Amino acid sequence: MGETAEDFVLVINSGSSSIKYQLLDPESSVVAASGIVERIGEDDSVIQHRADGESTERREPIADHTAGLRLVFEMFAATGHDLRREGVRAVGHRVVHGGEVFYRPTLIDDDVAAAISDLSALAPLHNPANLAGIESARALLPDAPQVAVFDTAFFHGLPAAAKTYAIDAKVAAAHGIRKYGFHGTSHEYVSGRVAELLGRDPGELNQIVFHLGNGASASAIRGGRPVDTSMGLTPLEGLVMGTRPGDLDPGIVAHLARSAHLDIDQIDTLLNRDSGIKGLSGVNDFRELRRLIETGDEAARLAYDVYVHRLRRYLGAYLIELGGVDAITFTAGVGENSPQVRADALAGLARFGIEVDPAANTAENRAARRISPPDAPVAVLVVPTNEELAIARAARQVVDRLD
Ligand code: ADP
Repeated sequence: MGETAEDFVLVINSGSSSIKYQLLDPESSVVAASGIVERIGEDDSVIQHRADGESTERREPIADHTAGLRLVFEMFAATGHDLRREGVRAVGHRVVHGGEVFYRPTLIDDDVAAAISDLSALAPLHNPANLAGIESARALLPDAPQVAVFDTAFFHGLPAAAKTYAIDAKVAAAHGIRKYGFHGTSHEYVSGRVAELLGRDPGELNQIVFHLGNGASASAIRGGRPVDTSMGLTPLEGLVMGTRPGDLDPGIVAHLARSAHLDIDQIDTLLNRDSGIKGLSGVNDFRELRRLIETGDEAARLAYDVYVHRLRRYLGAYLIELGGVDAITFTAGVGENSPQVRADALAGLARFGIEVDPAANTAENRAARRISPPDAPVAVLVVPTNEELAIARAARQVVDRLD
């Protein structure tokens, strides 16, 4: 690589049994290497590392996150980037829940790590895993500044009417119950790119962004600031997702406890892992869902219809909340790659100025692009998200302020 390792930020997205990573230059966006460690803690762990256009795979048992990251550094060294010797500008960590405490990218010290751990009650599936990545990176790269970038941060300033759940206010206050929102790094990055692409000041745009990946969320953004978002206290609320139901009558939880005798962990598992597209159709991958639909599978068809119905419900709500919209944008795995979802989500809305140009929508194109007719009042766009780049830039800014 032309640059030295010191120009680069290592971005780490640590899950319960995986570590996704990328080494990139936040200024040029050049990615020097990236990869994923999967099935940590199992016998068949695997690491896939990509550097300079070449992929390397290694399969061996990886006991924990520290062992995983040590192996990542070995792979880096073998492909010409000895990070432990050369150092990096910063390590940027994706952290899912910042609660009320963190709403800016934050330099990690012992107190910050402890506070992230304390927030685990709000995100038991995510924050402990994020912290495992943080602790491992701090141990292995003790001289590198480590920065936490929170998925909730962008939504910290949601208006009170949008973030407040209508339950006993004292109970809510005692337990930190409010809408926090997630995928904030993506919604912020993508809405910023939309303003760039349209050549408009973000301050004058009303936007709706649909982040449709395995997890899915929508946001309504006025003048660069979110005014509503579909995920809530946890990433369960809102749109239908790969394995999560999104919006649900909360009475279902009590009903399941009483009638199906499920305990709270079983209900949590049902809602986080066995619902959504998977619960309805048996598959959670959108490509498989489309294949099933083509074979005439009725359950798959229904899952798709429920998914699109929910998207349109949020679209309608946000259109009214914003009092009109300038841009509607699709991003993440499904949003970027499924013309069908985009067309169905926006079908029949010409009277609202919302139209999709079929040729632009189905064109083979991976770049950020407009898919509405040029003269349509509402710009409909597809913008690839890049959370790693956004995290790297945020981490870099924090570190620059230290100098
Ligand atoms: P994550 O939330 O894990 O980051 P992604 O943003 O990578 O997820 O999105 C994963 C989803 O995107 C999966 O449901 C996958 O099926 C879907 N997807 C990826 N490529 C395509 C494609 N070409 N067509 C339709 N769906 C796709």
